[in-house]
Amino acid sequence: MILHVDMDAFFASIEQAINPRLKGKPLIVGSRGSKMHTVVCAASYAAKVLGINSGMASREAFARCPNLEFVAADQAKYIWTSEQIFELLQGFNLPLNYASVDEFQMDLTGCQNPVSLGKDIKEQIYANFNITASVGIAKNWLLAKLASKIDKPDGLTLINDDNFESILRQTSLDKLCGMGGKTGANFIASGLKTCWDLYLNLPAFFDQNPGKFDENTGKSSQKPKSVSHSYTLPKVQINPQVIRAWIRLLSEMVATRLRQQNLVSQTVHLWLNGPEIGNFGAQKTYQTQTNDGYEIYQKAIKIMANSSLKNPRIRAIGVTCSSLFWGTSQPLLSEEIRKEGLIRALDRINNRFGEGSIYPAITSFTRS
Ligand SMILES: [Mg+2]
Repeated sequence: MILHVDMDAFFASIEQAINPRLKGKPLIVGSRGSKMHTVVCAASYAAKVLGINSGMASREAFARCPNLEFVAADQAKYIWTSEQIFELLQGFNLPLNYASVDEFQMDLTGCQNPVSLGKDIKEQIYANFNITASVGIAKNWLLAKLASKIDKPDGLTLINDDNFESILRQTSLDKLCGMGGKTGANFIASGLKTCWDLYLNLPAFFDQNPGKFDENTGKSSQKPKSVSHSYTLPKVQINPQVIRAWIRLLSEMVATRLRQQNLVSQTVHLWLNGPEIGNFGAQKTYQTQTNDGYEIYQKAIKIMANSSLKNPRIRAIGVTCSSLFWGTSQPLLSEEIRKEGLIRALDRINNRFGEGSIYPAITSFTRS
């Protein structure tokens, strides 16, 4: 059995827990501070009732509800709360997976009473953070996640053999994970409406565990301390363009590995070795988190620029990212959403056509 915890309107609920004046009110969390020129990245339940949802332009949200409450997103606060909840769940001593900033999964193998465990988890989250979670329990990851959505907010649903059919009959297909993209559109176009329609046509879909949990079980609670790549050049190099190209390439390699593990980093460390400078190493920690190669590169270059090194001769280079956190699945700012889309497209191209099929132009200097 798998237990899936999904926090209810997570960002909005955190804001309401911190500021009781906002409790029960229609509230949006905007990705940027200018309230009329941003995108809703979370809506409280009182706002959802009015048809206001994540992704909507804030201007439209205010058109629907002129006295809507507004708070600018504070990503650090949400990630911190998320990590605290993860720690609380670790206390239950069952294999645990950090699925996203507001979703966690537990493997209940060996658990005698899943429903009372689910209640216990909900109560402890509420007692500690003053926010609610919905819990779904089922034989696999897909159904547990679906179950968590059935009775939102503050829900607790168990899908077992007795209610499997009735729940699937009552649940529209778009609630099922994986139905957002082309797959879902194809199913819906072919006339399937409920999860039960899909089950009758493709029962195997409900048997699969979409991998994510199985792969990560047990391991996922152990984050690496750092991710790094280094390279010894074939000969001592003085051309700053070639040196920068190598720093960029190593930054991209580190970034790819961070993304593969769903990690983001706050600290960038640059290591250089050369005949005159010996070993040089310096690092800087930033408020913002990233797994973008270009950003890591810029930070590494800045470290070099701020050092006393003047056009050094370089033999070996290393880029390391540390202060690692689990990545959020929801970028908050619209520029971030665009950037994420671009990075994801680049990863897809390289996964499909082979590593290095598409690469930043500057890194071609490493090939000369
Ligand atoms: Mg949620």
